[in-house]
Parts: sequence; structure tokens; C-alpha cells
Amino acid sequence: MTEKISTELKEFIRKTALLNAVKHEGKAQTGPVVGKILGEKPEYRTKVKEVSELISKVVQEVNALSLNEQLRIIEEKWPETLAKEKAREERHLPPLPNAANYKRIVTRYSPNPDCVLHLGSARAIVLSHEYARMYNGTFILRFEDTDPKLKRPVLEFYDCIREDLAWLECKPDEEYIQSDRISIYYEYAEKLLRDGNAYVCTCQPEEFRKRILAHKPCECRDCPPEEHLARWRRMLEGGYAEGEAVVRVKTDLNHPNPAVRDWPALRVLDTEKYPHPRVGSKYRVWPLYNLAAGVDDHLMRITHIIRGKEHLTNQVRQECMYRHLGWTYPETIHYGRLKITGASLSKSKIVQGMREGLYKDWDDPRLATFAALRRRGISPEAIRRLMIDIGPKTSDVVLSWENLYAHNRKILDPIANRYFFVQNPIELSVKRIPKEFVARLHLHPDNPERGFREYTIVPRGKENSAAFWVSRKDVDSSKIGTVLRLMELFNLKILSASLYAAQASFESESYEQARDIKAQLIHWVPVGEDMPCQVVMPDATVAEGIAEGVCKGLKKDDVVQFERFGFVRIDRVADKLTAYYAQK
Ligand SMILES: [Zn+2]
Repeated sequence: MTEKISTELKEFIRKTALLNAVKHEGKAQTGPVVGKILGEKPEYRTKVKEVSELISKVVQEVNALSLNEQLRIIEEKWPETLAKEKAREERHLPPLPNAANYKRIVTRYSPNPDCVLHLGSARAIVLSHEYARMYNGTFILRFEDTDPKLKRPVLEFYDCIREDLAWLECKPDEEYIQSDRISIYYEYAEKLLRDGNAYVCTCQPEEFRKRILAHKPCECRDCPPEEHLARWRRMLEGGYAEGEAVVRVKTDLNHPNPAVRDWPALRVLDTEKYPHPRVGSKYRVWPLYNLAAGVDDHLMRITHIIRGKEHLTNQVRQECMYRHLGWTYPETIHYGRLKITGASLSKSKIVQGMREGLYKDWDDPRLATFAALRRRGISPEAIRRLMIDIGPKTSDVVLSWENLYAHNRKILDPIANRYFFVQNPIELSVKRIPKEFVARLHLHPDNPERGFREYTIVPRGKENSAAFWVSRKDVDSSKIGTVLRLMELFNLKILSASLYAAQASFESESYEQARDIKAQLIHWVPVGEDMPCQVVMPDATVAEGIAEGVCKGLKKDDVVQFERFGFVRIDRVADKLTAYYAQK
């Protein structure tokens, strides 16, 4: 490669690597960068080996920079690319289908209060809410709590869900609880029975299954409506035990999907044995999902149902019932599956872990529940932006925590004040300090008006020394003889280091000198101006250390950035500070 091409190419690689890095927490990934370069500069495809080597070298250089440095370079050299990114950020949702056909757009989110909500619920909530807002419509919260046996609702979760929605800023305009509406479902069940569009099946489940698989009606199906109304009354009066009678909605027995054929709509439950937490044993006949949701969607005038594609078969089932009742089915958007690598989004695993005592509470930092994300300092706006970014597309999406963190960082970075937290501290004694130093540490580098912390370092004793807490990771025996810089203070040379203490001597004052020799900049806390601090990490381990004493003035729920450590949410301020780790 000629020198000229190589310089030009190198610059292009640098730009690509930087842009890739800022999208991935400051760490560019070689693979995508190679792909992009060879895609845009096909002439280098014959020199893949050389180009790849160059790319991996540049990626290494880029990754050695902090994210802020990376952003600064891009802003300086290619400001237009950031503007493009910004425009992409403010992306809006695609329009709803046939929105013009409706006077008022109505959407709903309908959770079963049998567990707290987690990140996996965010898409349905945010999209349904956002669309209602977009069209000046109505967003409904509907608790689907009609299975006191297998998906038993729990009273505290009704409130948890309300809180979660409020926190996400997706407050509903109306709220309904299905267990309050049982008589409504009875009314429509009766109408379906009376019109011969449903029947009470008293067959053994096995017998029914055999017949339905063979496209054959069971013996109940063709009895006259009077017989079914009589059986229905018997159901309501307790004449059938659990499992002895099911109301089925008639469908085409030749429907290609056997799961659609004559689907079950209401059944008998032994609520003496499985009382409902809200209505106890008042009802023995309970609607199943498709009857309750289908009836409600119509009565609540839902215009657009936004939900996962696993509901496609339910739509087919419900459409049969809608035809019987002469109703028009709402518009539907069925989005693809959303997987978040590293996050357990299985309700049953969360519930099981709680039952077994693996998790202390619903906001255990290992969980992806909204309660846990809230406690960690993940901003609800970050969740909203991420979900709007993904939108309602039908293809499956795999996300990582990093995708959420990237949004969260953009929100927190400008608002979080900065402090020093020294994890695994050791005492560093610095001698031969020639004079008094005053360190002014801005609470936020881009917003000097927010103020600063000031530390006056007064050399004492015959060795003119001062003591600092620094992290053992920054000052260990491998650093003996190296020059480090205490951020915003001065440069020093490490003389000795053990597990518990280290000695250093003053080297020089200027930042430029530290930069020229690429000295590492480390954070510190003056001994005597400190407070103990613990940070609960996402894996539930606890990082112990020392924070600046001024952190006593922080308040619960403040989100701050511990420099070179990460963003944390202040959980408790006492003699010891307790924080929860959000992200890098
Ligand atoms: Zn039957």
C-alpha cells in the first residue's frame, strides 16, 4: 500500500472505529468495522489481511480512549455524523394502520397481576401508551386476573404495576379489573349459548380432544340451545365440579389449527380451594383469556391492539366470537419477539427465585424487574427511548444491556454530578510535597456553574507529606517507579506498595507533563475527608470503599457518577453511604 492511500484509509478506519465505539460503551468491535470498511471500500477486498491488521490496530487505539474522548474527537472532526445520530435518536413511531377510520384511538395494556413487571413488558406498555398520546387518544390499563388457580393474582402486584406504569410515565387514562366484570362475561356467554354459537361441553377432555382432532363434533355440540342454557345455569349453581363442564365457542371444525377449533371460553373452578384474592369464592365459573379479553376489547372500544406475535392464534379464536356477536375486530399490530441477552425475563424463574430465597426482594439487582432497574438508577426515559427505537417491527429483536445503557448514559451524563469513590482503598502517603495545593474538582466538567469540591492539601511533618485514599487497583507493587497523577492535583512517583499502604514522592505539578508521559490519572480522597461507602453491584455483590465526605450531602435517589467507576443511584445516606450501581 502506498503511504498516501494508507493515511487516507487509516483516517477512514479511525472514523468508523470511533463511531462504532461510541455506539458500544466506548469499545469498538473489530468485526463490524472490518465489514463496514470493506463494504464501502471494495478495492481493499484483495488486501483483507493487511487491512484487517490495520483495523485491529486502530480499534485498539480507539478503545484505549475514554468514551468522552472519543465523543470529543468525533465532534471536532466529523460533527455532521453526531447530528445524524441525533436525528435518528428522535425517531418517532410509524403511523398506526387505518388510524383515520377511528374518531378516537384507544389502546390498552393488560397484565396479569401474578408477578411484578419486568423489562420484557416495557414494549407493550410504552408502545400502547405512546400511540395513544401520539393520536390524542386513550390508554387503558386492564388487569386480567381471571385465573385464581394457575395464574393466581397477588394483591400487592396490582399496586406494583400501577407504580411501575407511573414510574415509566405511562399513566393510564382508565383502569379496569376483570374480576370486577365477571357478570359482564356471563352475559355474553349466555348470549352466545342462546344463539347457538357456544355450547356447554361436559365431555371428558380426552374424548373431546380425540374428536376435535378428527374434525368431529362432540356429543354436546349439537344439542339445542335450551339444553345448553340449562347446563349453563347448572354450572352457575354449582351443579358441576371443577373440570366437569366447559363453555366452548363454536368455530369451523375444519380450521387447520386444532387449537382454534371450538375453543374453551369459561370453565368451573373450585374457588373454595383456590379463592381469588379480590373476590374470594364468590364465583365458581371463570372466563378464560380469549373470552374475557375479546369481550373487553370490544366493550372498551379498543381500536388498536399492540402485542407480541405469540397472540396471533388468539386473534383467530377471538375473531370467531366477534363474528358470532356481529362485532368488528380491532386493528392489531403483532410485534416480534424481544430477547435481552443476560436478562432473565421469565416470570416463572423470577417467582421461583423469590420463593426459594435466591432473591431478597422484587428489586434485587440481578432481576430485570422495573423495581430493580429503578433502584439501580436506570432512567425510565431510557427504557422508553429504547422501546420507541425498536418500535413495533415484526422481526425478532435481540438486545443487550448495552443498548439500554447507551440511552441511559445520554440521559444521566449531563445531569449526574461527579464524585470520587475509591474501591478497595489503600492509604497512599505522598512525601516531599513542596507547597500547599488547592484542588478544585468540578461537580460537572461541562457545567462549572454547578460548583465544585475544594480540597486544600497541606504538607505536614518533616517529610512534608499528605495522605490519600487510592484504589489498590491503581497503586500496586507493579506500579513502583511509575509516575501517576492524582486527578486535578499533582503528579507523583510510587516508591513502594503493599496490600494495605503505599508510599510515593511528589514529582511535579503540571498536567501537561503527565499527559506527555501518558501518566495514568487516578482518583483519590484525602484521608480525613472521607466516608465509608458501599455499592451494590448488578450481580448483588457489594463493592466496599471510601467516598468523599461531601457525599453526606447527597440525597436518596440522587444519581451521581463515581468517576472511573460508574453511575450509581444513592440508596441510603447515613454514617455509611449505600449506592446501587447503574452502569459504566
Ligand atoms: Zn362435549
